[in-house]
Amino acid sequence: MDKIYRFLMDDANVRGEYAQLSSAWQELTACSDYPAPVKKILGEALVAVALMSATIKFKGSLSIQLNNGNPVNLLIVQATSDGGLRGMARWKGDVEDIDPTMTNLLGSDATLVITVEPEPGQGERYQSIVNLDGETLAECLMAYFEQSEQLKTRLELAVSDTTAAGMLVQRLPGDAEDTDGWNRASMLAETVKSEELLTLDVETLLHRLFNEESVRLFDGEPLRFQCSCSQEKVDNMLSSMGRAEADSMLKEKGSIEVDCDFCNTHYSVDEIDLERIFSEGLIAGNDSVH
Ligand SMILES: [Zn+2]
Repeated sequence: MDKIYRFLMDDANVRGEYAQLSSAWQELTACSDYPAPVKKILGEALVAVALMSATIKFKGSLSIQLNNGNPVNLLIVQATSDGGLRGMARWKGDVEDIDPTMTNLLGSDATLVITVEPEPGQGERYQSIVNLDGETLAECLMAYFEQSEQLKTRLELAVSDTTAAGMLVQRLPGDAEDTDGWNRASMLAETVKSEELLTLDVETLLHRLFNEESVRLFDGEPLRFQCSCSQEKVDNMLSSMGRAEADSMLKEKGSIEVDCDFCNTHYSVDEIDLERIFSEGLIAGNDSVH
């Protein structure tokens, strides 16, 4: 089962997380035919967003987005506070044989956008946009933590066809009793092999890496692939577009086809659906005023 585990090294004032995704990763990649280099960065991003979302203390979501890249022109992954994950990537041209470095996949104009989106009434939306600074996604995210959050962080990510896994250790603010603890924790974390992240259970992994450290491991929390698309959202989108525009779209093609980018669910809207949407739309319109 896909899970995320938290652990603490109390004396060193260091927190850690470890996540291993199998079915969520397989379900996500079944939605689209991703070339290997795109699959690698998408898997790394999916694990990273799961690890980063574990620190959210409210109901809502966290997303990582890579914009304006070339050939990968859009990559977005999202995690909700209750363990739902989704993500997708778009690319141009033939990328099958690219060596999957950040420069090769994204070029020099891409930006990294981190968005924290609490549910209504749970706090302020927060967005941070930074330039890519590193040859791997993990390096770029570590640079983000250092620059934007002033948090020393070590992030290790690994992806195979069937599994995506990763570990994050982070120096918490404030003084530590064990002043050298962070240095040791980050150096030990850096020694982890991809194979270990992808295949070991959490107890074995932590024992291998930190057997001389005092580590407090918490119960794992489940993660799953979950898309938030629905017929209702498609209806709402058309409703906000307005009757005239929806009618002309329908006339042009005979039906309105909408594909969810995240899960490939296909929504088809015909004339009868439009009647339904716009008779309901009157009520929805009134609601949105308040
Ligand atoms: Zn969907």
